[in-house]
Amino acid sequence: MSNLRLRLLSYVIMAYMLMAFAWWSMLLFTKNQDAFYAKRDLMKIGMVAEGLVKNNVEFEQTFDYQELAKKYQRQERMIFGEAIMFVVTLLAGIWFINQGYQKEVKANTQRRNFLLSITHELKSPIASIRLVLETLLRRELPKEKANQLSTSALRENERLHELVENLLLSAKLETAYQPYFEELDIAALLEDLMAKLADRHPEAYIALEKPDDFPLVKMDKQGIISVATNLLENAIKYADARPEIEVRLFHQNKKVTMEFADNGPGIPEQEKKRIFEKFYRIGSEETRQTKGTGLGLFIVQQVVKAHNGRIQVLNNQPKGTVFKIVIGN
Ligand code: ADP
Repeated sequence: MSNLRLRLLSYVIMAYMLMAFAWWSMLLFTKNQDAFYAKRDLMKIGMVAEGLVKNNVEFEQTFDYQELAKKYQRQERMIFGEAIMFVVTLLAGIWFINQGYQKEVKANTQRRNFLLSITHELKSPIASIRLVLETLLRRELPKEKANQLSTSALRENERLHELVENLLLSAKLETAYQPYFEELDIAALLEDLMAKLADRHPEAYIALEKPDDFPLVKMDKQGIISVATNLLENAIKYADARPEIEVRLFHQNKKVTMEFADNGPGIPEQEKKRIFEKFYRIGSEETRQTKGTGLGLFIVQQVVKAHNGRIQVLNNQPKGTVFKIVIGN
């Protein structure tokens, strides 16, 4: 049975339960009222026969009648109270079930997206490395051409390596990630990563802005490398034909701020929170052109959290995105 039908069926069952309950409550209410009237009439007839009361006014003032009326009102309140409790618990139950259902649907879509993207991500470098190796084996190539092919195979291998690292780290982040804090020259570390990126992307403008005397700071080296690599790779991946990336580093009152600014398409407001979810990628997997797994920003956020830091997504001017990370108390 399709999901929609199952959902409709559960709504029909819930509506039936609510209506059946409303009907039972009404019935109980009227039966209780009937019982009260019957007891009251019987009591009145008895009292009139014994000559204890002469009319309605006198009857309604007797102790026995007032006790009976009090008991009836108590029962009425009980029926109302129970009915409200039942409806509230039922609605809360429905709400929780619905939340669980929505989570399950979301997790399924994410798993599907992940499988689609990971298959693609693994297939293309494997195929290119294989092609390069086959060409090198089959043909005697001039040294320069052979070097060119080997470099491109190495680059593909690097991509595979980064992908596997991301997969491992994201699995670890949920169970066993223990940041190892050590004194780091974060400016040198960023310069190194940016130089590597500039080598691979000569078309990009990549610059680091920092004060001259940036101090050593206590951070987890592997974690910070992962954060910077993922943000820099994204800045290139989602940028225009001529990517412009600026990394800004500040230090103030024991707080380290890192900003990764690009001139790409920017991130729509409604997506800004979701992009940090595991496996989340903007758009649909079938139509998307860029490669990725949706793990990058999840890793970035988890590592930043492990450093007691926070990350913000801001709009760059005139266009693009700025990922701003603040670490420290
Ligand atoms: P991936 O890059 O593997 O898709 P990420 O978790 O790194 O996964 O990013 C999630 C999504 O956020 C991306 O699919 C992309 O749509 C969007 N995104 C991330 N970085 C940028 C950026 N610098 N500019 C525009 N969009 C971005």
